[in-house]
Amino acid sequence: MSQFWSPLVHRLSPYVPGEQPRVEGLIKLNTNELPFGPSPAVAGAIEAAAREGLQLYPDPQSGALCEALAAYHGMPRDHVFVGNGSDEVLAHAFAGLLKHDGQLLFPDITYSFYPTYCRLFGIAYETVPLDGAMQVNIEDYRRATGAIVGAVILPNPNAPTGVGLGLDAVERLLAMHAHAPVVIDEAYVDFGAQSALPLIARYPNLLIVRTLSKSRGLAGLRVGYALGQPHLIEALVRVKDSFNSYPLDRLAQAGALASLGDEDYFQQGCAAIIENRAQLVTGLERLGFAVLPSQANFVFARHSARGGAELAQALRAKKILVRHFNAPRIDPFLRITVGNGDQVSVLLQALEDILSC
Ligand code: PMP
Repeated sequence: MSQFWSPLVHRLSPYVPGEQPRVEGLIKLNTNELPFGPSPAVAGAIEAAAREGLQLYPDPQSGALCEALAAYHGMPRDHVFVGNGSDEVLAHAFAGLLKHDGQLLFPDITYSFYPTYCRLFGIAYETVPLDGAMQVNIEDYRRATGAIVGAVILPNPNAPTGVGLGLDAVERLLAMHAHAPVVIDEAYVDFGAQSALPLIARYPNLLIVRTLSKSRGLAGLRVGYALGQPHLIEALVRVKDSFNSYPLDRLAQAGALASLGDEDYFQQGCAAIIENRAQLVTGLERLGFAVLPSQANFVFARHSARGGAELAQALRAKKILVRHFNAPRIDPFLRITVGNGDQVSVLLQALEDILSC
């Protein structure tokens, strides 16, 4: 019955999300969630919000949350936009800022949602290969092919490699494409990478997209946001209002606000992940893995003798889920989320057992 579909639907090849199985006792290191929960203040705030009035619609502008995010980052309120997870914020950015006559540039490899959104919104794109060390080289974004650059999107740190770019490199990119919107997706920035926030005041082409899913342990609440000069934020607002897409619900607004208010918990959580990451990297290297330098809450690693698919399968048999991408060039790699101390130890022991067979 697909003759009823629009031509657009025939062109789509949907994004494949990481598995979310409901299996008891699974060690889940496949979708970059935090191994511990959010600030304890979040549950209390959500309960209070539920008691207060679920019969009432939420604030469509998420005003209190936007104010809090603006204050948190030391910016005016009109520099902030919130959405249901950064995937939704990115969707609005693709529709409102990244669709131009020229090509949209992004790295190959990167977050696999980007080409999906391009197909959905009819955006022409060109991918820029990572260099030999699997890093983004900003000089490659001066287009050798002569294609007109309409816009650029980059995650920093990149996904699924975890490799971060310095502020100087991001600034060079912004200056290089001063007439094009540049979106920096900072989903994983809190685990030791450099944020481009200090560049917002000087670069009217810079939009930063962030999420509370990773470093704040709120993947289940769906809260993301964008920061940029008001003319960019206005584009996102117009797209959102045209879709009439859902505002954040009352529980999400309340929970996100509570998380922002607990800075100590947030800082301690990020520090714990950075410490566990070092332990994970040391252990993997001892077992014969080459690990890319990660500034995220995951590592990207390949074994010297064993394939990625094989190892992911063997770990699954031991009830440990990691991410393997069946794609050229990254096929030998595993992307492993940094878990808590116990999870890191169990994973390393499981790999040692697998490799000794
Ligand atoms: N950007 C990147 C680079 C990601 O890896 C993810 C998580 N899959 C997201 C954005 C979206 O995260 P969320 O929608 O949970 O905010």
